[in-house]
Order: sequence, then C-alpha cells, then structure tokens
Amino acid sequence: MINQRRADGSLRHLTTLDGLRRAEIEQLLERASAYVCAPGQMPPRNQNLAGVTIGNLFTEPSTRTRVSFELAGRRLGADVVNLEVQLSSRAKGETMLDTVHTLESLHFDVFIIRDSQSGVVAHVAANVMPHVSVLSAGEAHVSHPTQGLLDALTVRQCKGDRFDQLTIAIVGDIRHSRVARSAYEAFTGLGVGELRLIAPPALMPAAEEFPQGQRFTSPETGLPGADVVMMLRIQKERMEAAAIPDGEEYFQRFGLTPQRLALAKPDAIVMHPQPMNRGIEIESSVADGPQSVIRSQVSNGVAVRMAVLETVVRPGGSRT
Ligand code: ASP
Repeated sequence: MINQRRADGSLRHLTTLDGLRRAEIEQLLERASAYVCAPGQMPPRNQNLAGVTIGNLFTEPSTRTRVSFELAGRRLGADVVNLEVQLSSRAKGETMLDTVHTLESLHFDVFIIRDSQSGVVAHVAANVMPHVSVLSAGEAHVSHPTQGLLDALTVRQCKGDRFDQLTIAIVGDIRHSRVARSAYEAFTGLGVGELRLIAPPALMPAAEEFPQGQRFTSPETGLPGADVVMMLRIQKERMEAAAIPDGEEYFQRFGLTPQRLALAKPDAIVMHPQPMNRGIEIESSVADGPQSVIRSQVSNGVAVRMAVLETVVRPGGSRT
C-alpha cells in the first residue's frame, strides 16, 4: 500500500479507504453533505478548483463513476478531460504511467484512474510529480473508495450517524467485488454494529478478508433484523466462464425479492451500486420499490466526489 498522505499528514491521494481515520471519513461525509441537493434543485457549484486540470483515465467501462467525477470537477470550476485509455495510447503499448507522464507535461493536476489490474493506481500515485494527486475510480476487485464513501453517506442520510447501532448485510458476489471491500472499510471505519456477509461459498471472500464480517450462506439466515441490505452485481468479467453461476438458480437462492426483504427490519433500506442484473440479484419491484435508495446512491456520488477532489487538491480549505 502506498502512502496516501503528504508530509503534513493531509490526504494527497485516495486509492483506498484502508488506513483512513474515522474522523477523516466523517469529515469527507460532512463536506459531501454540503453538496447534496434534492432532485430538481440547481446543484451547488463554486470555483474552488478553478485553474485545476483533471484527467479521467478509465480502462474499464463506467457510467456513473466517470460522469459523476466529471460533474464534480466541473461544479468546482476545474477543467476536466476524459480519456478512453484503451482506445488511445494503451492500445499502442504505452503504459498507464507513460500516459500520465505525458499528461503531466500538459499541466494536469489530478488523475482519476479506473483499471482492471490491481496495483496500477498505486504505481501511478507513487510516481507522479509532487503537486499531483491520484484518485482511484475502481481498481480490479480490490477497491473503489469513492463508492465506499457514497454508500456510507447514503446509509448516514437514511439511518443517522450511529453506525454502532446498525446491522448491515452485504449480499452476493462479495469475493470479486471492489464495492464490497470499500464498503467494508467505510462501515467498519465508522464503527458499524454488525456486518453480515451473505453469499454462496463460491462467491464468499477468503477467510482472512473481511475479518469483522459474520458469514451466512443464505439470505434466510442472514437478513433477519438487517437495517441495510446492500446487493452486489455478479462480476462475470472477473470469473472463469465455468464459475459463472446460473442466473435463474442464483435468483432462486439469493435474489432479493419482496418476501426476502420482509425478513429484514420493516424500514430497511435496499442498496445496489449498479449496473443491476434485474431478475438475477434483485427483483425489479424491489429495485424500484419504496425501500430502495439506489437512485440516492447515484446522486450522492457527485457530492462525495466533489468533497474528495476538494480535500486532496485544497488541503488547507477552499479558496473562495
Ligand atoms: N459500478 C461498480 C463498480 O465499478 C459496481 C459494479 O460494476 O458492479 O465496481
């Protein structure tokens, strides 16, 4: 793991939530809360990052994360450039770091990187110029720190900040999920009362991972009493073809239906990072139902990314 901090202790990069202090996570969520806005309202904007150039470098597909990082940068007054890395230099054999060094010469200040290989984001962060920050937008199965923060913000909005009183269930393909790993770091960092991992054995992570999670092999045993039900997508792209579960059978055993959701607390919220496989990990009536906060998760993504960008670029506070 690389050192994400400057010599004065301030956060310079965000490649993982691992190692962040509780107070730092809370500060990021506080800052993000100021940028949350209701549907139909004019989103907050300022010039706190005026003059800053941000590059979005994604080698895996992305809709929500890329768009929300772009909006976050623009709403803070930065210049934002999107690069489809696999379509340009990487296809010619140039490494991510070479691409980044080229862009540094063009005076980029922040790189937001999504990569299917673990280690690439940290390698770039360890080798950029001292004034440059690197943010992970999703690294292999390993981490997706801004998703972890937006998930924590969504839980906090719905359930308050007493995480110690909450039971959170993460359900599905935990083994291959970077969303689950960053959610685990965010929720345990905030002192969650009980964290449950619900998955078939083939999709359960290794024993030493998620040490604070209680393991369940069925929703029937893991969901009762849960305040939060976080569903995950089956990460087919990270599995051998033979290991991909049969969709229909998976839905029968693990799909979130209204009947299964009724096992959780009556006011439990339902989350999913998207994209959703409707009819495989979640039934449409639940995904679009009254307990779903899936659309709030998306909106919160912009607010969280504004907070993260400001925190790493302006450690001393905003300029305006
Ligand atoms: N969009 C999330 C990610 O990039 C979740 C998913 O793809 O399942 O990890």
